[in-house]
Amino acid sequence: MNLAIDAATGKRLEGIRKMGESQIRPVGLEADRLGRPTPPDHPFFELLLKIGMGRSRWVDGEELETRAKVSAGDSVKEDASRRVGTSRNMLCIAEEMSYWDRGVAVSFPGPGLGEPPLLSMGTPDQKRRFLGPFLEPDRPRWGSFAMTEPGAGSDVAGIEALARKDGDDWILNGDKSFAANASRADWIVVWATIDRSLGREGHRAFVVERGTPGLGDFFVERKMGLKAYESTSFTLRDCRVPAANLIGGEEHYARRAGFKGAMRSFNATRPLVAIMAVGIGRAALDEALAFARENDLLGDPRVRDRLERTRRRLRAARLLCWRAAWLADHSRPNILEASMSKAVAPAVALEATSLGMELLGEVGGRGDHLIEKLFRDVKAMDIVEGTGQIQRILMARKLVQLPRD
Ligand SMILES: Cc1cc2nc3c(=O)[nH]c(=O)nc-3n(C[C@H](O)[C@H](O)[C@H](O)COP(=O)(O)OP(=O)(O)OC[C@H]3O[C@@H](n4cnc5c(N)ncnc54)[C@H](O)[C@@H]3O)c2cc1C
Repeated sequence: MNLAIDAATGKRLEGIRKMGESQIRPVGLEADRLGRPTPPDHPFFELLLKIGMGRSRWVDGEELETRAKVSAGDSVKEDASRRVGTSRNMLCIAEEMSYWDRGVAVSFPGPGLGEPPLLSMGTPDQKRRFLGPFLEPDRPRWGSFAMTEPGAGSDVAGIEALARKDGDDWILNGDKSFAANASRADWIVVWATIDRSLGREGHRAFVVERGTPGLGDFFVERKMGLKAYESTSFTLRDCRVPAANLIGGEEHYARRAGFKGAMRSFNATRPLVAIMAVGIGRAALDEALAFARENDLLGDPRVRDRLERTRRRLRAARLLCWRAAWLADHSRPNILEASMSKAVAPAVALEATSLGMELLGEVGGRGDHLIEKLFRDVKAMDIVEGTGQIQRILMARKLVQLPRD
């Protein structure tokens, strides 16, 4: 596995480091202090647009389809010399942004988690309509992804939001929860079922556009951490969506590809979420190290040992994430590695923030030190995109199905 970072990514990382210190971390601290998400009209978002952020990965009608399929673990022929390394570059950038503030990183304008299903399943027309405006956005724009429901989190097969065909339209009814950036989004990728008794095969993904009658009751949840971005619950009440917004069109689901589409999205996004945890863990380690140095704790071998162990484990977790991305970049299945990265990285990052809290003692406990915020921020990383427990179940299942060597 080539560990080198290409020159363009190196340059972007340098830019993020500068912006991290001057903008990302202060914006995150402000949101945490105020206890509410950064509002959509915050000047920070305009600034991001000016420097070229908030854009789609889909390129000019011929999006990096290969990348999406590759991320999804499909085997496709590709121009390897041109494409290889794309996912890993994204991981490096995501880690660096999360080092400065993961909540702010998720609040960035862009199609967000709604993009992978559109890239992997969407028709050319849908990509043009929904990702096109994110190519050169005239204003900060967001997309959103809503799978979770009050009664269906880990068990996504159990979603109850109902989709009923009515002439040329679909009528959606149901409740969705914790969807990132949903109330400010131009559109939300909503998962619903055409028949609850069909389980996974009944799943369909729709793009529900802002302002669609029946889409409403947006409620921004209170969270223990990651306060800079909104996690929003909303309802769909006789929400009429044109058939053209069924992602992939009917024939995609005739091939029984609906649920697989959702799972493929997760294979692409799990290493990304995992590496964000590494970023938070690194920030915690830096805080712990700085505190130990300032307070003459580094002479104690127990302290040094714990700091070293944390750095080692964070680096190992990062390699797992890179491995999952490398496999994706090279058109190889990455389901197991995506789960491994997601099972390991948030747990290690949680350990890093715990170490920080313990070393800082009452300084950390007072609640006005960055380490305490990182401690609150990191927990969600184990929950989103499939909990650590669920990843362990998936991996164990995979293990027992392996043939003997
Ligand atoms: C900050 C944050 C942001 C989020 N953003 C989004 C988003 O943008 N879009 C979206 O759709 N969702 C989002 N979610 C929802 C998230 O995906 C769910 O919270 C997650 O899937 C877990 O579901 P749940 O909370 O219903 O927990 P449950 O599924 O009820 O699980 C509760 C506990 O039981 C364990 N468990 C569940 N099933 C089993 C089993 N079979 N065996 C053993 N243990 C099990 C779980 O690991 C967990 O520890 C977000 C959540 C948070 C906290």
